[in-house]
Amino acid sequence: MTETLQGVGVSHGVAIGQVRHMGTAVLEPEAKQIPTEDAPREQARARQAVDAVAADLQARGNLAGGEAQAVLDAQALMAQDPELMADVERRIAVGSSAERAVYDAFAAYRALLAAAGDYLAGRVADLDDVRNRIVARLMGVPMPGVPDSDEPYVLFARDLAPADTALLDPTLVLGFVTEEGGPTSHSAILARALGVPAVVAMPGATRMAEGVVVAVDGSSGAVIVDPSQETQERLRGEAAERKAALAASSGPGQTSDGHRVPLLANIGGPADVPAAVEMGAEGVGLFRTEFLFLDDSKKAPSEDAQVEAYRKVLEAFPEGRVVVRVLDAGADKPLDFLTPADEPNPALGVRGLRSLLEHPEVLRTQLRALARASEGLPVHLEVMAPMVADRQDAKAFADACREAGLQAKFGAMVEIPSAALRARSILQEVEFLSLGTNDLAQYAFAADRQVGAVARLQDPWQPALLDLIAMSAEAARATGKSCGVCGEAASDPVLACVLTGLGVTSLSMGAASIPYVRSKLSKVTLAQCERAAAAARATDSAADARAAASQVLSGE
Ligand code: PEP
Ligand code: MG
Repeated sequence: MTETLQGVGVSHGVAIGQVRHMGTAVLEPEAKQIPTEDAPREQARARQAVDAVAADLQARGNLAGGEAQAVLDAQALMAQDPELMADVERRIAVGSSAERAVYDAFAAYRALLAAAGDYLAGRVADLDDVRNRIVARLMGVPMPGVPDSDEPYVLFARDLAPADTALLDPTLVLGFVTEEGGPTSHSAILARALGVPAVVAMPGATRMAEGVVVAVDGSSGAVIVDPSQETQERLRGEAAERKAALAASSGPGQTSDGHRVPLLANIGGPADVPAAVEMGAEGVGLFRTEFLFLDDSKKAPSEDAQVEAYRKVLEAFPEGRVVVRVLDAGADKPLDFLTPADEPNPALGVRGLRSLLEHPEVLRTQLRALARASEGLPVHLEVMAPMVADRQDAKAFADACREAGLQAKFGAMVEIPSAALRARSILQEVEFLSLGTNDLAQYAFAADRQVGAVARLQDPWQPALLDLIAMSAEAARATGKSCGVCGEAASDPVLACVLTGLGVTSLSMGAASIPYVRSKLSKVTLAQCERAAAAARATDSAADARAAASQVLSGE
């Protein structure tokens, strides 16, 4: 029966498809004793599960071909390792259930591999994946991590961290719906990067039945369960019309009276470049370099590997501006080689620039890689540091850039309220500011960006956040420097006009949002943007701010 549920729409467009759930993180079967007479049945169950998983891995390998096939074939062999199977059977014979025996036998094998030096230690993640597949099969629950599917689907999850989603196949994911997360969570960012519709903070998302068809409206936040054929056709028709209208908007970002606001793309690596170019991005306003290394974060990336990745991005914008952020590790984006494992509150700990200052060799390598990657290219390279708290941080970063001989502008992200409050002093050390409104909201409101229950406080329309933005933009204007926004606030077309009115000089967002922002901006004057900004700041709530600004901008 058709039913409409409501969450927070965070990435435009409509997706219609079957629900597939992201499996829960780690499956640890209960360690209970089973009667001896059940052992043969449990051993048979274990063998069947192992054989089925091996066959499935092989079938996937055959489909994928190339390098992926070699990896999947190797995993299939691991699953059927005779010694491992013998250990599983021994454990069952002394009273383990099939799932617990598999879990424990793999743990023992894992410890051996991990101790056996570099090459074998690198296989541990593959071994864990095999174990998870077998245990999930035995327990009759979805496989942890990204769903196994050959058909496109709508991904449902509690929340999506970048590390979970590094392996998502963008050709299969039609859209996202999450139970947790706010408009600035990484689920939202990832959806915009992939250009797929998304709804976050939707109560009950994790309980939605697997396989049911849903229509997700990433603008309104509505999720229609089991929509009729007629509804599906109507939604598809509307989405196509909207897309065609947006495709007609092109050219640089500017207001109707010609005030220029460059529209830049947020990217996580070379794979995001084609979409940015297609949407007419005038450059890159935020290159999240840590995204390149999330799936293999045991060791710091080599200088050469970094040069290769950076060069691909820099070459794509020959005359444009590319703002690269140095590694922002920590909290929801841990990198083993930078992030302390035992912090009580990682969001407030040694993350972002702080961890780079504790590992100066990692920062030096990255800056040298950027210098080499940009050699001989006409690109305007800018480099910025995440999580700058004060002038001392800004100076340490600028010194490191100068020491590395980097021919680039150095900037600071404003993500911590102290940096907005003292923007002028930070600008004594760096040449530009870039507002990371996602973290700025998180820290200004003490509201974790991963937690759906506090999404209200993560709303970038909150007047207090607008005040912090205004303060930073004003400091930049007074010192003749630039101040962009690269947080998700820039991707809301109405808010983008307000940011322009607050004095922000460029807007950077997931590529898919660029046409929406360009189109809205081209319909309003700078004076209207300024009036909308003043009207929004005069209110006391996000909802009132949005309503007041929308009214000014629609000319009512
Ligand atoms: C931000 O905090 O607004 C930002 C752009 O950085 P990230 O989302 O990667 O933390
Ligand atoms: Mg941030």
